[in-house]
Amino acid sequence: MVKFVASSLAALVLTVATIQAQSTTTAAAATTKTTTSAAAATTTTTTWPAANQVPPTNSAEVQAWLKEIDLTGAPDIELHKGDPPSCPNPPIANECYWTCDGCSDDDIVSCARPNTWGLTFDDGPSTDTPTLLTYLKGQNLAASFFLIGSNVVQYPEIVKQEVAEGHHLASHTWSHHALTTLTNEQIVAEMRWTEKAVMEYTGLKLKYMRPPYGDINARVRFVLKKLGYIPVDWTGDEFDTNDWQMPTMSESTVISTFTKSLDTYAASNKTTGFYCLEHDLNNLTVGVAQKIIPLGLARNITIAPIPVCESDASPYQNSNTATTTTAATNGTTATSTSANQSATSSSTSGNQANQGKTSGAESRVAGSALSAIAGAAVAGLLLA
Ligand SMILES: [Zn+2]
Repeated sequence: MVKFVASSLAALVLTVATIQAQSTTTAAAATTKTTTSAAAATTTTTTWPAANQVPPTNSAEVQAWLKEIDLTGAPDIELHKGDPPSCPNPPIANECYWTCDGCSDDDIVSCARPNTWGLTFDDGPSTDTPTLLTYLKGQNLAASFFLIGSNVVQYPEIVKQEVAEGHHLASHTWSHHALTTLTNEQIVAEMRWTEKAVMEYTGLKLKYMRPPYGDINARVRFVLKKLGYIPVDWTGDEFDTNDWQMPTMSESTVISTFTKSLDTYAASNKTTGFYCLEHDLNNLTVGVAQKIIPLGLARNITIAPIPVCESDASPYQNSNTATTTTAATNGTTATSTSANQSATSSSTSGNQANQGKTSGAESRVAGSALSAIAGAAVAGLLLA
């Protein structure tokens, strides 16, 4: 990883790598889609697991992935029940369960840059994501997108657009189930299938993830680390925008509540930034994003994606760069340094223990059939 002093930097550089689509053939599971890569002139046949369901662990793919890692020593914590689960009563000793006791261990919970809003969107891509992308482009802003694998294979062109426009991709699992309710092997299946989908369409191997519902404990963390992932939660309840509660919660309530959080933050010493919980889930969440982002800008808060927050020049497990092109973000930020990192888990953590978070209930998006894709992937890698 390349480090730099962010405050002295003036331009954010977008690095674009052209990565040829891979040809893969897999067996098992529910739906098959044959795709033809226009640029690479190869045919890819991938059989993806059923949408929005926990992928089976007895498939050849998952069995192979399990052989690649050693789960010996995983904390022996019983599985929770419910989706999302209710808090265990009595609490389980040493579980470090963020959802219920606020224990975050070394999860990232705050943007490491002072006075910075780490802009993230969960649960996409959706049919409303392009509207958000148009807005962000107009504002010259970049975000991190926590993608649901089921949606990636349904809307791969949107994922490619996110990369091409300088955004950062991260994982939000395949089916958006609460990970503390799944076995270690099921967690591997959720993460690796999503990783495979994004890799197939963009060539990028994801490195950051956000657990659905913020549902993460010591056992889940252990498995995620074995897979090379860095969990990113959010900076406590006041930075859950509650956009997912619309329309039950009115837009005006979402905005007024979040305005108070921004005002409180703006009046603080702002030595660290924050990560919000927001969603590119539907027209309501995408709509309110366009109303609250200006509130942050008006308070002179820098808005940036995870790689900028964490000064991570290698924001993918396989970060490789080629051509340097253009710039993004609101004013501030960084010169780039080229990334070149081989697989696995370097662990960045901007981290603080025990940040509070209790609401637990974020929305999930429905998805279904696959859609066709074509073409070699163009991968944009935002560096800081
Ligand atoms: Zn989610």
